[in-house]
Formats: sequence, structure tokens, C-alpha cells
Amino acid sequence: MPHRTETDSRKLLRRLRDEMAVSNPGQERLDRITTIIAEAMGVDVCSIYLFRDPDTLELCATEGLRSEAVHVTRLRLGEGLVGKVARLARPVNSANAPAEPGFRYMAETGEEVFTSFLGVPIQRLGERLGVLVVQAKEPRLYSEDEIYGLEVVAMLIAEMTELGAFVGDSTSFAAPHQNPVLLRGVTAQEGEAEGHVWLHEPRVVITNLVNDDSRAEVQRLDDAVAQLRVSIDELLTRAGTRDKEYQEVLQTYRMFAHSRGWLKRMQEDIRLGLSAEAAVEKEQSAARARLETVPDAYLRDRLHDLDDLSNRLLRILTGQGSQTGSEMPDRPILVARSIGPGELLDYGRKLRAVVLEEGAVGSHATIVARALAIPLVITVPRITTEALTGDHILVDGTEGQVHLRPDDSVTAAFRDKMAMQAKAQERYAVLRDKPAQARCGTRITLKMNAGLMADLPSLPTSGAEAVGLFRTELQFLARERMPRRAELVANYARVLDAAEGKDVHFRTLDIGSDKVMPYMKRPDEPNPAMGWRALRVGLDKQGVLRMQVQALIRAAQGRPLSVMFPLVATGSEFTRARDILMREVEREDRLGHKLPERLQVGAMLETPSLAYAPKSFYDEVDFISIGGNDLKQFFFAADRENELVRRRYDTLNVSFLTFLQVIVDRCHDAETTLSFCGEDAGRPTDALALAGIGIASLSMRPASIGPVKSLIRRANLNEVSELIARVQARGLESARPAVLDYIGTLVE
Ligand code: PEP
Ligand code: MG
Repeated sequence: MPHRTETDSRKLLRRLRDEMAVSNPGQERLDRITTIIAEAMGVDVCSIYLFRDPDTLELCATEGLRSEAVHVTRLRLGEGLVGKVARLARPVNSANAPAEPGFRYMAETGEEVFTSFLGVPIQRLGERLGVLVVQAKEPRLYSEDEIYGLEVVAMLIAEMTELGAFVGDSTSFAAPHQNPVLLRGVTAQEGEAEGHVWLHEPRVVITNLVNDDSRAEVQRLDDAVAQLRVSIDELLTRAGTRDKEYQEVLQTYRMFAHSRGWLKRMQEDIRLGLSAEAAVEKEQSAARARLETVPDAYLRDRLHDLDDLSNRLLRILTGQGSQTGSEMPDRPILVARSIGPGELLDYGRKLRAVVLEEGAVGSHATIVARALAIPLVITVPRITTEALTGDHILVDGTEGQVHLRPDDSVTAAFRDKMAMQAKAQERYAVLRDKPAQARCGTRITLKMNAGLMADLPSLPTSGAEAVGLFRTELQFLARERMPRRAELVANYARVLDAAEGKDVHFRTLDIGSDKVMPYMKRPDEPNPAMGWRALRVGLDKQGVLRMQVQALIRAAQGRPLSVMFPLVATGSEFTRARDILMREVEREDRLGHKLPERLQVGAMLETPSLAYAPKSFYDEVDFISIGGNDLKQFFFAADRENELVRRRYDTLNVSFLTFLQVIVDRCHDAETTLSFCGEDAGRPTDALALAGIGIASLSMRPASIGPVKSLIRRANLNEVSELIARVQARGLESARPAVLDYIGTLVE
């Protein structure tokens, strides 16, 4: 093989580009490309293998192997040298291929006569598309330059594949972004939705891949990098010192933006014939490929940073902003790598569902999606590379699955499932104005959880009797700065207006743990869930608590008001919080503001300690609301946000139920109102058991009220109570099997 010069590469890329411009059918194009490459590189064989499905590669075109093998020869991922290139996502270079471990001889191709082998992955932005191979009779190792050159060519083929260049009559291959894909993630909010993808950060579309004048193109890249550096410095100045983490990210961006290696590699690609955009994307693809194999979380974050930086650079080069001007499709389903709570709130109720490549069950975005009551699936691998704006998408929030571009049979089955659920909702709608009265005559009060003004319209339609938990922190989390008192007053007044006289239990700010306000300095904590959070912050930094209380009193304008404090761990914490509140009541009175006609002050019981607080606490508190999410995590010592343990312990575990009974008894003795407002209250089986042990008020997502009410109305709570007692007496670990059996006996 002759030594390849810069000019050879440029010529080759130009010829490939020209080939693209001719409107040949897909297969003919592929064939021509292999011929051009083999000729230009002076090798005997050039073959293109593309993925038929995520595990199978198919020989799609060849110059030099037997043509009968095209669309016949298939390899599993990892099988043979070609499969190895695909699996490792990096080149394999061998002077004596048949002697390599894992070599698979494919008789139909006639390849036994070829000794040397060089294969490079065809990939775009971390998405594996196939393998490009050259082979020769002569036993030789390919040079670094040759490998590099072939990678550049593979990148061009990847772009062509992406653009659907090979989709044609005879190939029977769909271009990427046309195949149906099923992706699995983790449920963060249940529910199903059908709609169309709306990419939060649409990818930059690159149309020119090959340059005509590499010197001018290098200059263009240099100018764009200079602009990028200035913009990062500006961001750094604007960020100031307020957020250490954000600053650190920007510092990393800055470091990458000044990295000589990064710039040099891109300049080199341009000299070989790529356009500046294609060179940036080639680097980005390489970083993404590395991302898949790096186990270290810190390094992965850095590769993500580099990825973001490449996007910024591409936007500068192409002039494409994050708004590409495309219209939001109907029934939009947001797809993003990650998203902040503020941005999600900006989209608001328009969205049918959200799918994130990253995210955590307890993240802010999750909290907002829950408040918006839309399905959310998180940690869905590759969704942002697989999906294109406008793609048909089905989100199964309950199963944590996403069907992208589903085929008709999947869509039909999914629609059936949604229809069944809609039917069930209709059945529940009939129950809306009926009480949650069990067959034994006991009435359970069903309330709803809320956190945004947008939730309130569900109050009348859900059949909830009150808002049992209003999470006030969402208003704080969704912004760049601390809200002012006047804004809080206006917001709380709107909430009370919308509730039309129904009780709203406002929970004071519950921040800390996963809920971090960007504008409030916080210490680094080794274990934030058990750290400086919720009421602990309120008692130490009383300014915000006082402002919130003042705003609540003013918003009530004489109407009844219920306030509860989160994560109260001891009776004295409650007393101190209540004293602060009462002082503000007096102050508001002195200032001439109308006082609430009735003021109820409650505590959230979220730590086991409070169950055993002195009797004086139970006498003093007006009501107790069990925050089951936190209480359960502390009872079982199992982090509610850790996927490895969060489902490990059952709410109907007899130890937990027995413990809850302690709280029920203590509230009963002190005549203190008790409710339960964790997520479990909205799960019908769990709700039935909670009602069965004597918790007469449950607060849940609005959509859960129908199913819970329907079950309670069919059940006899005395029977549930006896059944749980029997399970306890028999020394069983969980009451769930018995409760489920019981539910099975109930008539629909
Ligand atoms: C709880 O802990 O159960 C609760 C309702 O509060 P949050 O989920 O907001 O912590
Ligand atoms: Mg809680």
C-alpha cells in the first residue's frame, strides 16, 4: 500500500462526498463507496458491515470479497475480528488476521486469501452503526496514519448512514432513527403517555462534512474556539462565587477549551479533509465511545463536560441555537439528558411525559414531574442519541420503559393498556362525590398532595377532601433567587382561593437532602438525608421560616390556616417552631393584618424518634402527618433514592405496621388527628392496610384517589384489621400476601 498523504485523504473524502451527491439507490451507493475506498487506499478488500439489530452485524457492501456474501454474512457483536471492532468500539489492526484469537473464517466471503486486516468502528456520537474494514493479501501492519485516515472515512460513512444515505430498495435497511427501539430505564413517576419527542437540546445538524480549503477551515475552527473561550470566561465571571459546583464545571470547560491536544486533533482532521464541524463531532464521538467504557463516575462527568463543550462549539460553528425553530409537536414528550426544575416548570402542563438519560428518583426534576403529574422515566441509556424531535414515542412510566418509533402491534397493545386505564378512571370518576366509606361504616378521609399552583385544578376533579400536603419548597427550588415575601403571599393566596374553602396543609420549607436551592449556601455533608435539612435549617436560619409564616398569615386573610413542620425529630423542636410561628402571629396582629379564623399547627412524623416523644408533644400538636417516604427510609435504614435498596423493604412488613400502630395508639390517646402523606398512601393495597390499622386520613397524588377510594368502599376495615392481627400473631414477616388474598375475595 502506498504511503497516504494529506492530499490522498482529501481526494478520497471529496470523492466520497461527490458520490453522496449522486442520487443512486442505497445499495449502489454503498458498493461504490467500498470500491472508491479500496482503490484510494490500494487494498484488495474494503467492506462495510452495518448493524441489523443491536447485536447483529451484516455485511452490506464489499469490494474484494465474494458478492454473494453481501446481506448473507452476519456476525454477532463480539464475534470474529469485525465483531470485536464493534464491541470494543476501537480499531483492530492485524498483519496476520487468521492467526488472531477470535478470528472467524467465513467461507462464503472467500476471505482466506487475505492476511492483513484493519477494522474501524462506524459510529456517530457514541451510537454504534457498524464497522469499516480493509484487507490485503500482503501480511502487513497498517500505520498510525492509515488507521487515522480510515477513521475519518468511517466518520463520513457514519454521517451518511445517519442521513439515511443507504436506505434503499435493495438494502432493506432502515437508517438509524427509523428503527423501533425499546429502551429501559427507571420509574420516577408512574403513568403512561403517547406522543412525539421534543428534544430539550436538539442536536446540531451538520450538512457539510468535507472541506474545500483546509487552511480556511482551520482558521474557522480557531476563531470558533476563541469565541468559545471568551464565552466560558464570561460565564465564569457571571457565576461569581455563589455556586461552587457550577464554578467547578465551568473551570473544567475552561480547561478543555484550552486543551492543546483537543484542538490539535481537530486541526489534524481538518487537514485530512473534514469540515470544522465534522472534526468537532469526530472528537465528540470518540469521547462518547469512551464514556460507555469508563466506570469511574468522576471521569464520566468530565467526559460529559467535554460533550457539552463540543455542543457549544458546534452551535458557534453552525450558528444553530438550542432553538432550531422547529415547532413543538402535538402531545410533546420531553427527552433530555438532564433538566433543571425551573426549565421543566417552564414547559409546564404542555408536556405529556418526560424521559431523561440521567436523573435520580429524588432529583428536583423528579419532584416537579410528580407535581405536574406526568409520567417520568429516568436513566434511559442513549435516549438523546436515539430520538429525534417529532419521533413517535410511548412512555410506560409504570414499567420504566420507552418505546421509540414503535411498530403498529406495540402501539396497539399500548393503546389498549391506556384505554383500560382510562376506563378505570371513568369508573373512579363516578365515585368522585361519594365518600371513602368502607363496608363496615368507617369513613376514611382522602386528601391530595400538591406543590404547585398547577396542581390545584385537580382538587375538585379528583374527589379529594383537602390538600393534605402542600410542598412549599417547589416554588423555592424552581428559581434562581430566593422568592420575596410578596411573591409568596400572592402564591399562597392563589392556592387558598383555588382550594375554595377546602383545607390546605402548608408544609414549611423542606430543603436539604436532595432538595438544594442554588442560591443558598450549604455545607458539604457526608450524608445529607440525615443532615442539615427541613426544620433543622428552619430553626437555625429563622429568617426564611419567619418570612414564610408571615406570608401564609397574610395570604389567609382571615381564612382558616394549617401549617406543618417537616422532619420534626423531638417534641422540643416542634415547640420551638411553634413558638416562632406564634410570635409571628402576634407581630402580624400588631401590624394590623387579619389573623386566620382558625390556626392548626402540625408536625410531620418522619423519624422514628417522634413516635416515642413525651405525651406533652402529642397534647400540644394539633395534627400529625406521617411522612412515610422518610419514615420508612429511617426505619429500615434504606436510602429512598438508592435504587439498590429503595424497594428492598415492604411497607406492609409487620415490623413497620406494628410501629405505625404505636403512632396510631398515641394519637388516639391524645385525641390528635393523624394522617399519612407518603407515596404509599396512594397505592391501593398499602392504603387499605394503613386504613386497616387505624389511619383514618390518607393524602396522595390526585390520580390515586379514585383507585384507593374504590378499594376502600369494597372492603371491610374490621376484617383487614383482624387479618393483620392474625399475621402478627403468626409471626409472619409481611402482611402483603394476606392483604392481597383478601382483596382477591372482594367483589368488583
Ligand atoms: C415523606 O417523606 O413521606 C413526605 C411526604 O415528604 P417528602 O417526600 O417531600 O420528603
Ligand atoms: Mg419527607
